[in-house]
Order: sequence, then C-alpha cells, then structure tokens
Amino acid sequence: MAKFRERAEFDASTRSDYTMLPWRFTPLDDESYVATNMAGEYVTMSAGEVSDFAGGALRPDQPVYDELKSRHFLIDDDTQVAIDLLGLKIRTKLAPLANFTGLHIFVTTLRCEHSCPYCQVSRANDDKREFDMSEETALRSLDLAFRSPSPAIKIEFQGGESTLNMPIIRFIVAEALRRKETARRNLAFVIATNLAVLDDEILQFARQHDILISTSLDGPADLHNRNRPRPGKNSYEKAVEGIARARTALGHYNVGALMTTTAASLPQVRSIIDEYIRMDFGGIFLRPLSPYGFAIKTKSYASYDQKKWLEFFFEGLDYIIDLNLGGFEFIEHYSAMVLKKMLTPLQTSYVDLMSPAGIGIGAVVYNYDGVVYASDESRMLAEMGDTTFALGNVHDDDFADIFMGDALLEPLEQSFSASVPGCSWCAFEPWCGAEPVFHHATQGDFVGKKPLSSFCTRNIALFRGLISRMEANPEVRRIFERWANIV
Ligand code: SF4
Repeated sequence: MAKFRERAEFDASTRSDYTMLPWRFTPLDDESYVATNMAGEYVTMSAGEVSDFAGGALRPDQPVYDELKSRHFLIDDDTQVAIDLLGLKIRTKLAPLANFTGLHIFVTTLRCEHSCPYCQVSRANDDKREFDMSEETALRSLDLAFRSPSPAIKIEFQGGESTLNMPIIRFIVAEALRRKETARRNLAFVIATNLAVLDDEILQFARQHDILISTSLDGPADLHNRNRPRPGKNSYEKAVEGIARARTALGHYNVGALMTTTAASLPQVRSIIDEYIRMDFGGIFLRPLSPYGFAIKTKSYASYDQKKWLEFFFEGLDYIIDLNLGGFEFIEHYSAMVLKKMLTPLQTSYVDLMSPAGIGIGAVVYNYDGVVYASDESRMLAEMGDTTFALGNVHDDDFADIFMGDALLEPLEQSFSASVPGCSWCAFEPWCGAEPVFHHATQGDFVGKKPLSSFCTRNIALFRGLISRMEANPEVRRIFERWANIV
C-alpha cells in the first residue's frame, strides 16, 4: 500500500468540469488577449487559451487554469467560496456609492485676472462684482452640502480666480466649521487658485484652517506664460513664487498642481515633467483639454487630435517609468487612478472614471448665482448655453428636488456603463467611467456611440498601454502596484 495518496486526490478540480463566472475578453496585441471579471481583476491569455476556456475545454493542468480560478473567472468542485468572494469584491468596489456626494465645489466668483484661451469657465472681467457668490447663496449651498450623508465633506473653492472673493471663502469656512460640531462630519477645504493674487493674509487664513492649495502649472516658463496670459505676462513667475510661499506657510505636501495640455505642450512632455520634478512635486497628471467653455470658443480644443495626445501621453509615461526604474520615484496620476481600479479592490473617486457616473453623486457644484450643477464640466457646458446638467437652484429647490430629480437621475441611469451598448460587452468596462456630460457635449446624448467617442478611444489605448507595459516587465508591475496604492 502506498504511503501517500496521489496528489490528484486532494484536488477536486481534476475530477469535475468548471463553471464560468461572468467574464469578458478583448485583444491586447497581435498575440494575446486580456480577460476581465466583474470585479475588474484581469488575466492575459493566448488566443488558444481563450478558445479553450470559452469552449469549456481548459484543463486543470494548463497554467492559466489556476490563474483564472484564483481570480474568480471559474468555479469547480474545489472552489465553493469563489462566488461569495467575487460578490464581496464587487460590493467593496461599489461601497463608496452609499456615501453619496463627498466633494462640494463652491464657485466663489467668475472674476479672473488671467485670460487663458483654454479656460473651461467663461471668466468675467475682474471688476464685475455681480459674478460673486453672496452670503445667502453660500448659506443655502451649505445647507445642501450638509444634507449629504457622506461622513467626509470636502469643500473646494473655485473660480474664475476663487481668492478674488476672499470674504465669501472666509464666511463659508467659518460657517462650515460651526456646523461641523453638530453634523459630526470630517471637513476638508481646498482653495483652487492661480496664485497670482496670493498674499500673506490668505496664507495665514489657509494655515489657520488646514486649507490645501491647488494650482495650475502647465510646464516651463515660456509654455506656462503662453498658455496662461495675464497683465504683466508673468503667470509662471507668480505661480512658482506662490507655490514656494504656500509650501512654506502650509507644508510642502499641502500644495498641489495640475497641468493642461495644449497644442504647444505636445512636443515638450519631457520638459513639462522636468519642470514638475524641478518644482519638487511627487507626480504629474497628464491631462487632455476638455471640450467646454473657452476651449471651444477659442478653438483650443480642436487644435490637436486624440492620436497626438496619446503620443504625448505615452512618451511622458515611458519617461516617468524610466525615471522610476532608475530609482527616482515619480507618479503619473491618471495612470495611477486606473491602476487602482485594475490592481486593488478599491475604487477611485475621480469623477471621469466612475460608473455610475460621478456627476452629482461624486461631486457637485454650487455656482456663484445659486445654480447647482452636476459637475464642473456641467457648469462649463452651461456657460456655453446648454443647461442640461443644471440640477436646480439653491434658492428655489430642496435637497430632494436637486439630488433626486430627473436632471440627475436620467443621465446616471442612462449612462451606467455596465448596461449601455458598447460598454456592456467591453472587457475594459470595470475600469472605465460613464461620462454622460462629455458624451452629451460631443455627441448629443448621455451614452454616445463609443466607436466615435474620444473618451473611449483614449481609455482603450490607456488600458492596453498600462497592461502591456506591466506584463512585459515585472519591475514595471511593481512600480504600478506602488502607484495604485498611493492614490
Ligand atoms: S467607454 Fe469604451 S473603453 Fe470604456 S467601457 Fe465603454 S466601450 Fe469600453
């Protein structure tokens, strides 16, 4: 009699057929495919393996079998808990929805002393006080913000140049802090500013209340000044000086910067990244232009196409990867947010990558005049005359009118990517977003035809680009895993 039973006797997989759990696949390149499950876990496979798996002919001794099993693409007699685990992972991904709106954007004024041609909000001249938020509008907006069930409420001040209306920022911060005591919420504040009118009083106020600063930095001086004209032609100098002063006052990591890609940026992604490194930022968000506001009026949006942006993006991404491979830690933020969806059980709160869409339920905008918009892009669209995503007015409507009305629920319901044509069978759907505002702006409906959608084209290229890079080099995968757990 044998001392030990055969190994196969301990492996029920060898004695049964498998059952497939929901999965989708799409070509990754000429030789391989990427398959995803409902929780966004992925496996790369050859065409033969896809065919075997789909045909029920995959054998337990094929290496990809265990990979598919461990990631809940299949169950057999050996894996009784797989369905529960998959359900748990999907619930974890969707759990933030229960918190409802966490980011509340207050447009304190439309006034601005910059005149950026790509500006996404149609700024007003800086002496027009009728474009300032009033105390009454601020109070009613706060009423709505504190009705949100979210345990954490972030209030972000935007403009125009938000700090041109400092009195209302001071008023809102004081009132929100007063309400915090009874409402028992975690509160955070962000001032989005071009830093040109920053003074010591603003910095002192920000330090006193732990307010973060978010600014714009488009790249080196010539590019930044060209993209962001202001009287004195010194937007870059103001930004760099302001970043240094704000860091001194608030702490190095309490000051962030965002860039916008214009046609002039396209040939110089490396020098843009170098500028962020020189300014000692830990990463960069390589952002394309959005089809809203002044970007449309001044034709900035039409000045470059998707292909050129993707070349710009991947040149930048590869440059950043090389820096990391050489031991210098630096992140590309959009990739990091996608990687968080690919490589962790968690969601990103970035509105563009949410489904159901993040409009209204991820972030909401209280405009200076009391109109509530479903997102920043929604108010930019309204500035162009399209008020589809105006959810109501803080002076006339209550919480239920605004957050449970058709103006919000219709686009949310119609654009849910798991159920719309194109996305519902797309392997990348678990990582993608719904983007009803973008598709309405570019194609006239909340869903859009995905083959004509630059949002879709861009994301597909990005998803493939990220997977192929980490599949080709385990060291890159380790870097990406680090990014996924930072953002
Ligand atoms: S938008 Fe495109 S990439 Fe995203 S899920 Fe839909 S079809 Fe896939």
